[in-house]
Amino acid sequence: MNALICIEVSNNKIKKSSLESIELSKQLGCTNTAFLAGANSPELTEELKQYGFKNVFCSEKKEDYLPESISLLLKQAINKANASIIFSNNSLFSQDMFFRISASDLNIASDVIGVEKKDNKINTTQSLFSGKCTAQISFSTEKIPVAILLRANQFKVSATPEENISVSVLDNINVDNKIKLVSTSKSENSEKDITEANIIVSGGRGLKEAANFKLLKDLAAVLDAGVGASRAVVDAGWVSHNMQVGQTGKVVSPKLYIACGISGAIQHLAGMSSSQIIVAINTDADAPIFKKANYGLVADALSVIPKLTEALKSQMS
Ligand SMILES: Cc1cc2nc3c(=O)[nH]c(=O)nc-3n(C[C@H](O)[C@H](O)[C@H](O)COP(=O)(O)OP(=O)(O)OC[C@H]3O[C@@H](n4cnc5c(N)ncnc54)[C@H](O)[C@@H]3O)c2cc1C
Repeated sequence: MNALICIEVSNNKIKKSSLESIELSKQLGCTNTAFLAGANSPELTEELKQYGFKNVFCSEKKEDYLPESISLLLKQAINKANASIIFSNNSLFSQDMFFRISASDLNIASDVIGVEKKDNKINTTQSLFSGKCTAQISFSTEKIPVAILLRANQFKVSATPEENISVSVLDNINVDNKIKLVSTSKSENSEKDITEANIIVSGGRGLKEAANFKLLKDLAAVLDAGVGASRAVVDAGWVSHNMQVGQTGKVVSPKLYIACGISGAIQHLAGMSSSQIIVAINTDADAPIFKKANYGLVADALSVIPKLTEALKSQMS
């Protein structure tokens, strides 16, 4: 069975989450080909070679390639690779791209947390309704391929380098894009994308005021972590929406999630309860977050966070 693995690139770097399907795909018995979404460069293809790809489909690099046009390149790559299964990370970018071609040419499973192959069917486990339930869906790939968008940090990235990689450039696409790219700018917290981070330190209303997010940023710098937030503080204008974790924010699955001054409302838990280890710091011993936490500290986050930062700094130096 041929698999096409969609590689998302951000700031000329391959997103780690788009490499998480490599080993999984091999375990399903697939032969992997990469699709470099809207990009092409010797550095990127060299990196893909290190991750064990022998073949990559890419396009001429165009700054204004948007999902509208990249989805057409993707369609071309699926056909040329004769792919029965397509893997991607479950990002907004890939959702935008895949849903454009899913109506007639593709079955699609998003926010997937488990995949297996049984009796020639691909069975996926998806998280639904903000994690309140899971669905097992079985796909036949005989007539049309299936695209599986994986939740980040659920599968290990593996790398067995290849000696050579063959690069095929797809035919140029000229679409009259209805959406025009006007400009791009870095948003706050763009240092570390929280959907990719292994560690997240997250703050809520218990931090009392916007300026205290500096304490979290200092801790994050020591841990090489991303900084997240509850909706309450995003709505209050303390931090930007791209930091919000939860039902109406981002879904994250880091190895370690440290919730500081966050009560643990169901809508917040919807975005972070699949984290491997959850640590909560809260003054209220009855806060719901403690029911989800592996480790809890009933304490004032404003006095604990700087001490934690200093202790970690001296441990690491
Ligand atoms: C449709 C809908 C969608 C929503 N989507 C989201 C979402 O995506 N993400 C999200 O987060 N919320 C979401 N919410 C809001 C959610 O219901 C909560 O209101 C929100 O998560 C609360 O944020 P908080 O925990 O920061 O604040 P609070 O609930 O006010 O909790 C603050 C916590 O800080 C503790 N605390 C106070 N002082 C200290 C201190 N000094 N040190 C340590 N702890 C302290 C308190 O004990 C308390 O537990 C949504 C709500 C709705 C209705």
